[in-house]
Amino acid sequence: MTTIRRGETAIEVITADIITLEIDAIVNAANQSLKGGGGVDGAIHRAAGKAKLQEACRAIGGCPTGEARITDGFDLAARHIIHAVGPRWKDGTKGEDDLLASAYRHSFALAGDHGIRSIAFPAISTGIYGFPKDRAANIAVSECLAAAETGKFDRIMLCCFSSADAATYEGALTREAQT
Ligand code: ADP
Repeated sequence: MTTIRRGETAIEVITADIITLEIDAIVNAANQSLKGGGGVDGAIHRAAGKAKLQEACRAIGGCPTGEARITDGFDLAARHIIHAVGPRWKDGTKGEDDLLASAYRHSFALAGDHGIRSIAFPAISTGIYGFPKDRAANIAVSECLAAAETGKFDRIMLCCFSSADAATYEGALTREAQT
């Protein structure tokens, strides 16, 4: 685990299953339909309670790429789920970087509006959506540092599923923290 501090905010990279975290909100790497899918999305839907979460997502309707929507956490330890839709990687020239940054920014904005002070993100877009991990890690870290500047968060976690991914996100965090 790597932690840096910015003002009152701790930014951490951890290796964990995001559904286990006891925190104000976990972020889901959702798709535009918000209907649930594979990867972390499927895990979150199962752990929150499939029927209840699907019903809440159906009421919202959907979410464009680069934005986020919030629901209750239902059976999760986390009070809320923020469903962020990251971009599918194409070749890097289709606005992928901006859309990924936007998915983080929207998530932080929603969290701030709901008084959420602790939040954990998975490595959005780096699984099924194929975003290169180094590049995604740099974007995630710079958005976390920007969010820390707002003073609205006590704890921001980048929750990786493997120690190899955590090493990538830790590298990005350590580099950025030094600049
Ligand atoms: P995307 O479609 O945005 O790429 P994925 O769910 O396929 O979303 O993958 C995003 C990241 O989430 C990947 O790094 C994957 O290893 C990770 N992941 C999958 N399951 C979990 C989980 N239970 N907790 C945390 N991270 C997870």
